[in-house]
Amino acid sequence: MLTALSIARPLPLGHTVPARLEHFLDRTSLPTPFLVVDRQLVAERLAAMLRVFEGAQLYYAVKANPLPQVLEVLARSGGGCDVASAAEVRLCLKAGIPGARISFGNTIKRPEDIAFAHAVGIARFAVDSAEELEKVARFAPGARVFVRLLVETVGAQWPLSRKFGCDASMALELLRSATALGLEPCGVSFHVGSQQTDPSQWEAPIALCADLDRQLRRDGLELGTINIGGGFPAQYTTPIPDISAYAAAIKSALRKHFGERMPALAIEPGRALVAEAGVIETSVLLVSRKSRGDAHQWVYLDCGKFGGLAETMDEAIRYPLVTPGRDASRVPSIVAGPTCDSADILYERTPYLLPGDLRAGDRVRILSAGAYTYTYASVGFNGLPPLRVLCR
Ligand SMILES: *Cc1c(COP(=O)(O)O)cnc(C)c1O
Repeated sequence: MLTALSIARPLPLGHTVPARLEHFLDRTSLPTPFLVVDRQLVAERLAAMLRVFEGAQLYYAVKANPLPQVLEVLARSGGGCDVASAAEVRLCLKAGIPGARISFGNTIKRPEDIAFAHAVGIARFAVDSAEELEKVARFAPGARVFVRLLVETVGAQWPLSRKFGCDASMALELLRSATALGLEPCGVSFHVGSQQTDPSQWEAPIALCADLDRQLRRDGLELGTINIGGGFPAQYTTPIPDISAYAAAIKSALRKHFGERMPALAIEPGRALVAEAGVIETSVLLVSRKSRGDAHQWVYLDCGKFGGLAETMDEAIRYPLVTPGRDASRVPSIVAGPTCDSADILYERTPYLLPGDLRAGDRVRILSAGAYTYTYASVGFNGLPPLRVLCR
């Protein structure tokens, strides 16, 4: 029986292993490590998101978790998907999401992927440069395009900003030249960084969009759709605001900056829909100390940075860990993965407080592990297989 929640800070109430998964995990004899995803919880998160952002178009960021069963939840809800490659397009089509509900949001695309996406009826493509705009015009003639804006934000635990987007004046040029290239400009997008813990971070980019809209109107154009990206957080070891707080802050910023001329709204949630629905079941391989008087214990799990926990890079994402509840004493613990790479340390700068009697063979559950995990796993470093994944 696994009971105690072993984390450096108390978990906010209600953050436990999803009940349906706990039942399964307590009975399974599957060898560790593996990820299990509760599709019902994904459906509940999706319904909540659609409720608070009523009227918005929703494009789920497939890269967060491309499991067919997760995409089928999207297909049934009538929602759409945001993809980055032809392979992700195929996954969506196979799950029953038609091209008209797919958005190609990657601003760095292969020409053949653009052509394929166009052929299967993909509705829209993102660009952030003149070269990419020309590429889309050539391989997806007549397509709808939206321009990704570079925005400066703080408060994201996994920033996505610097690499993508262009500044407002370049965005304006791209939107203007889209028509000349035979494309249909349909709006702008931005992303305030993933695991964004501050709902007020959408306001400055929304103000920027309103400013762009004013300039476009002088040319007889208009913004159309504003795609406010993803970034909505999942609960890890620190509490986060409720999704309704994000919707309220965003709607109020839209009203303030657009007034009566409200654009259509699109959202691209990834993490918030799937993270809390996943649990990685691991086993302790070794507990040791580096010297007799070492105040820290080292806990080596059978799943590490190369087994799907890439977002522990710089200790950015701090997953809640559930350990056996035998001993109430807690020891500062450095948590590491199983490979022969010294980069494969999950938490060292801020150690976790784990039971003093933790030992090899104990099961450790990694919570909120449904987003950005199994697809990051290496194909066979040290002979370790990619993380197994299943859905309940
Ligand atoms: C990854 C990504 C998202 C999803 O971000 P989350 O922080 O997981 O919600 C949305 N839009 C684009 C373009 C992305 O690349």
